[in-house]
Amino acid sequence: MDDAILHRTEAKRDRVIALTQDLIRIPTLNPPGQFYRDICEYLVKVLTPFNFECKLIRADGAPGDSDAFPRWNIVARREGTRAGPCVHFNSHHDVVAVGEGWTRDPFGGEIEDDKIFGRGACDMKGGLAASIIAVEAFLELYPDFAGAIEISATADEESGGYGGVAYLAQKGYFDPSRVQHVIIPEPLGKDRICLGHRGGWWAEIETKGEIAHGSMPFLGNCAVRHMGAVLERFEHDLLPALAARMTDMPVVPDGARSSTMNINSIHGGQAESYDGLPAHCVPDSCRIVIDRRFIIEENIEDVSSEIETLLENLKDTREGFDYELQEVNRVIPSMTPKTAPVVQTVAASISDVMGKHPSYIASPGSYDQKHIDRIGKLKNCIAYGPGELELAHKPDEWIGITDMIDSAQVMARSLERLLLP
Ligand SMILES: [Zn+2]
Repeated sequence: MDDAILHRTEAKRDRVIALTQDLIRIPTLNPPGQFYRDICEYLVKVLTPFNFECKLIRADGAPGDSDAFPRWNIVARREGTRAGPCVHFNSHHDVVAVGEGWTRDPFGGEIEDDKIFGRGACDMKGGLAASIIAVEAFLELYPDFAGAIEISATADEESGGYGGVAYLAQKGYFDPSRVQHVIIPEPLGKDRICLGHRGGWWAEIETKGEIAHGSMPFLGNCAVRHMGAVLERFEHDLLPALAARMTDMPVVPDGARSSTMNINSIHGGQAESYDGLPAHCVPDSCRIVIDRRFIIEENIEDVSSEIETLLENLKDTREGFDYELQEVNRVIPSMTPKTAPVVQTVAASISDVMGKHPSYIASPGSYDQKHIDRIGKLKNCIAYGPGELELAHKPDEWIGITDMIDSAQVMARSLERLLLP
């Protein structure tokens, strides 16, 4: 292997800038999930000249899909000239809300020095643009390659991926007989390979009480006090136990290298009226939503039964305590072994391009790998792409142009390793 592909990728600096700016200027905000069709059609124009066969796929009936805001995805495939594996680059095309605090036009694609600014610049339109120039450089040099290359841009990752990768996986697009290597260019850093992510279990807990006049609370049963007892158990028993439960997954940052739980929300009692005068009532209901992140060493049944046991215990010991527990959502952890071919290939390419060994990480939150793993049954999948994770979802989000080139070189080199036997 010589350095031709690295030079050719590097020469696409103007190209990657233009692509990133164009992508940022299509404001694919989620919610509501807008301009999805527009960004897919833009990508058809980009990829068709490289002989990609482009399919636009609407996730009919998926959560969030409507005629006002249809969930469009694109899967583009270019066949090689002989049999071989398929390498798939999957990016999500949706971006989160702009939020406050911007000093730049969030959809302008402004450039200063080595940075391109905009909502989605780092998460993850820069990664998508990097994968496109990597593929273009590869195809220009090696039109006669083995296997196939796919590029997808998918909807709704920021809201769970059900109208995007989950839907495509259900339709067989990530079947291991069709696709063998998946790289998701999420902004994890150009010298890091992300092997997977923790799991998540979301549930609503309601404590029940009995309404009565607020001047005579002894005639009622206060649901908020019962919730207080639940929170006390969390504070004294559950949270310390979770913090002590460490994982072998290389999760970053360090604080997420164990089980964790967030209490997302709490609602109890009657709502105050507009002028803030309270209702004189003992609350008969209090609800919280918990966000329990769990590690690969735990299984989801234990995660939910641990909470249920805690609540049952309160029911046995605390007078008047009653509750309801309802699962809201679940995500299974995913972890690709370091020995997997796509990991080995990208690791070798990082050494080649950057002259150092990669670090291996796992993500504290989940991303679309969960669907590729659980629904697609495809294990040979990683996240690898340019950008700093800390910038994602923040004001004045940006992507480094040099970072995009460097990671595109790694992707292009990986294509050489996988498709030029
Ligand atoms: Zn992302």
